[in-house]
Amino acid sequence: MTRLSQIEPTSLKDSGTNMCRLITDLYPICRSITGAGYRQTMQRIKEIIPLTICEVPSGTEIFDWVVPKEWNVREAYVIGPSGRKIIDFRRHNLHLLQYSHAVRLKVTLSELKEHLYSLPEHPDWIPYRTSYYKENWGFCLSQKQMDSLEEGEYEVVIDASLKDGSLTYGEYFIQGETDEEVLLSCHCCHPSLCNDNLSGIAVISALAKALTPLTLRYSYRFLFIPGMIGSITWLARNESIVARIKHGLVVSGVGDLGQLHYKRSRRGDAEIDRAAEHVLKYSGRPYQIRDFSPYGYDERQYCSPGFNLAVGALTRTPHGQYPQYHTSADDLSFISPQSLTDSLMTYAAVLRVLEGNRRYRNLNPKCEARLGKRGLYRTVGGQIDQPLRELAMLWVLNLSDGVHTLLDIADRAGIPFDLVREAADALSACDLLEEIP
Ligand SMILES: [Zn+2]
Repeated sequence: MTRLSQIEPTSLKDSGTNMCRLITDLYPICRSITGAGYRQTMQRIKEIIPLTICEVPSGTEIFDWVVPKEWNVREAYVIGPSGRKIIDFRRHNLHLLQYSHAVRLKVTLSELKEHLYSLPEHPDWIPYRTSYYKENWGFCLSQKQMDSLEEGEYEVVIDASLKDGSLTYGEYFIQGETDEEVLLSCHCCHPSLCNDNLSGIAVISALAKALTPLTLRYSYRFLFIPGMIGSITWLARNESIVARIKHGLVVSGVGDLGQLHYKRSRRGDAEIDRAAEHVLKYSGRPYQIRDFSPYGYDERQYCSPGFNLAVGALTRTPHGQYPQYHTSADDLSFISPQSLTDSLMTYAAVLRVLEGNRRYRNLNPKCEARLGKRGLYRTVGGQIDQPLRELAMLWVLNLSDGVHTLLDIADRAGIPFDLVREAADALSACDLLEEIP
């Protein structure tokens, strides 16, 4: 059986095209935190991995929150004084304020403007706005269009339903050799937005598919949830198994051209924090590390003090720090297959560290073992440079005292984890190391 450590990054390299295809399919769908678009999205992901789809009824109490009513839209438009449809949800689903209730009204321009949202600083873009928890209606449009509106009577039609139904989420579980789990979570509640939302769905789906045939030390749980309310719902329904989650990452904003950012878990020094920082350090590219803050995506819930899970967030440009964020400019042209693939490979590298991070005891601790006679060491002496592979073996032998993990050794030696892991495998094969259970 193949282990994650044996999966070469090259086997993930072709995933960019598939991830882009998934994003292109999902882009036109009007998703929200509940509703038909969310279910349609889960069905599409089900073509990649055998997702379990869960429905939680509206009104269910989840800690301090309640599962909201279900929102579905048939049509939404505004007809201007000229009799022409000037804003139409069918043209772009960002035009409608999410969770708008049904209306059929005739209003003046100034009355209409109280319900319009635009972005003066980016006059061509449509903003993405929501009103999940306060009953309201509204439309979003470009500032250019806003400026062109004439005085007169406007007809507003929103044919939407906001009633008891359910909140939908998808879950996929891979049983590993142990019941200890790695959690990978993404939000799926945004409509036509690519980097924020769809890129995370694509990377996590590709990762789940790649891990499925492998022999894995950890069990893996993949969550496809609506942002915030979804993680609160999942945690409330699964409190009894939360203690199994040993490591986790929130996956989002992984398709833009920006550099990778790792946001530490609330704990700050958890194994996932050290694994992610180690991988970024040896990635050969610029990257940023940020401390935890109680703002962002679903790590806010996983890292709430009552759970305090070791869950960090690995993204490219953080949310809110690129102008296209939550606008129509976060479209298919804003993401790239290369960035998606690079993000996927970085996630796989972090998981390789978690899977391979074990402790060993040196079985020949009195002076150095003779590596040459075991074919592990060069036979010609006198060279100035120590090959990194040999250096990794010396470090592993020296620090394998049953206490240091391979990640401790890699960090202290300043050697990439994968090389340290390979050194430990070679030394184990020669009976120089024994693994500490
Ligand atoms: Zn968002």
